[in-house]
Amino acid sequence: MLPQHADIVVIGGGSCGSVVAARLSDDPDRSVLLLEAGRGYDAGPTLPSELRDAALLPVGPESGWIAAYSAHLAEGRDATVVRGRGLGGSGAVNGAYFIRARPDDLGHWPRSWSHDEVLPYFRAIESDADFADSVHGGDGPIPVMRTPPDRLHPVSAAFHSAAVAAGHRSVDDLNAPGPVGVGRVPMNVRDGVRHGPGLAYLLPAMGRPNLSVQTGTQVVRIVVSEGRATGVEIADGTNIRRIEAGHVVVCAGAVCSPQLLMLSGIGPASQLRGLGLGVVHHLAGIGDGFSDHPEIAVPYRYRDNVPLRAPLLESVLHTDALEFRPYTVPFGAAIPGSGVADPILGVVLTRPRSRGSVMLNPNDPSAPPVLDYRYLLHHDDRDTLRDGVRAAADLLADMRDVVAPGSADVGSGRRGPSDAWLASHLGTSLHLSGTCRMGDGENSVVDENCRVHGIDGLSVVDTSVFPEVPSRGPHATAVMLAHRFAAGSSRVTGSTHLL
Ligand SMILES: Cc1cc2nc3c(=O)[nH]c(=O)nc-3n(C[C@H](O)[C@H](O)[C@H](O)COP(=O)(O)OP(=O)(O)OC[C@H]3O[C@@H](n4cnc5c(N)ncnc54)[C@H](O)[C@@H]3O)c2cc1C
Repeated sequence: MLPQHADIVVIGGGSCGSVVAARLSDDPDRSVLLLEAGRGYDAGPTLPSELRDAALLPVGPESGWIAAYSAHLAEGRDATVVRGRGLGGSGAVNGAYFIRARPDDLGHWPRSWSHDEVLPYFRAIESDADFADSVHGGDGPIPVMRTPPDRLHPVSAAFHSAAVAAGHRSVDDLNAPGPVGVGRVPMNVRDGVRHGPGLAYLLPAMGRPNLSVQTGTQVVRIVVSEGRATGVEIADGTNIRRIEAGHVVVCAGAVCSPQLLMLSGIGPASQLRGLGLGVVHHLAGIGDGFSDHPEIAVPYRYRDNVPLRAPLLESVLHTDALEFRPYTVPFGAAIPGSGVADPILGVVLTRPRSRGSVMLNPNDPSAPPVLDYRYLLHHDDRDTLRDGVRAAADLLADMRDVVAPGSADVGSGRRGPSDAWLASHLGTSLHLSGTCRMGDGENSVVDENCRVHGIDGLSVVDTSVFPEVPSRGPHATAVMLAHRFAAGSSRVTGSTHLL
């Protein structure tokens, strides 16, 4: 039964929403209602099989666990971008690469989110199976492990050797704040099962009497009255139903959080008026200025047969500007229905200059929003990726045990791959961040405690509040953010009931 009121309404049961709802309902005197647009699953060991297998990403065209968006990546390059949709969100379907932001990534955040400040929360969220020391956690909900060196897939092992031969440092622990180099990927996996926040945080909390979880329930508007969020409206067939809330926490993800705020009249006033929407509160930065990692796919062929079942990414090389991702198997083998047959080495720009925007669809604001990435606009971004593709060619040439000689396609320009070649091999790492940025500047949307500027009783807690995308995968940082937000909820307001 859908409650008519809750102390806290959490919108979106994805990576962050799962953590927020579970942690806030630790207090039995506080009622928490989690509303998730996508599918759900029952309490107990009933996580659907397609979400369990960490070696498979259920994000192909047939998946019932995703939402797909049309995106313009760069001049001449359009793509379909997916996000998780269902309990656990993107964290239930992702690559299980669970790595922390580096200390200098957090240098772009408000000072209360510095590396030293957040280290206790990075520790609190995890149980690291490989390291027990003051940097790692031993009893948090998310299990973290790395593939043992002697069990690495042949591609991962050959890549590691080639990177070391090329002069890169071998790093034991990519989560340690030391120098960058090549190392084994920390994964949120135990016994082959992907342990995202849906499984690790939310499922164990789902039987609580003070936590109600409603799936298949799309929030269409946040209700604001006299400068305070007082509830939400949900679609109920053709009707709209209202639920009153003491506090609303938006965890709808970096695409849907800005969309929902704008549909609620909170956003850039000129864009809202242009679409005939009322303006409740002008916040210029909503939707605009996001960052994500452009990724160039360098295809090659295997020399001999290699196992086609393994964690998709076991080893990575970080330089300051680039991440090299030797995917173990072709995407076609890891993503049911995707059909991509060649193995690839991904070349990722870790600190892109390009900034994109999520805009309401001008034909129908409630339809999926329009994503414009504006990748490759800056010549520094193009040049760094060009350097990366050249370095990838050298690494692949040195991976003689697994890469068929001369099979890598790296473009043929005299100065490296052309702009057109880069665009035609361009994708995105799906790390979209910063559509409702944290800070106190003109274009910031939430303060350092994730409270929306100018509206009481309303918070945003997901990767949309990241000031910019970290230089590596955002998932561990998202879970840390949500865990810390919930830990600080009573500190923020001085109340244990309302944030
Ligand atoms: C295919 C894929 C692979 C990835 N691989 C990795 C990886 O290996 N490592 C890594 O670090 N990062 C990875 N990422 C990124 C990472 O998973 C995400 O950044 C992170 O999970 C985002 O968490 P979130 O809570 O911000 O949003 P999400 O987890 O996307 O959650 C948002 C939730 O809100 C729900 N929702 C949206 N609108 C509404 C509404 N109006 N009403 C109710 N509910 C709503 C959605 O259905 C969804 O469940 C990957 C992402 C994808 C998509």
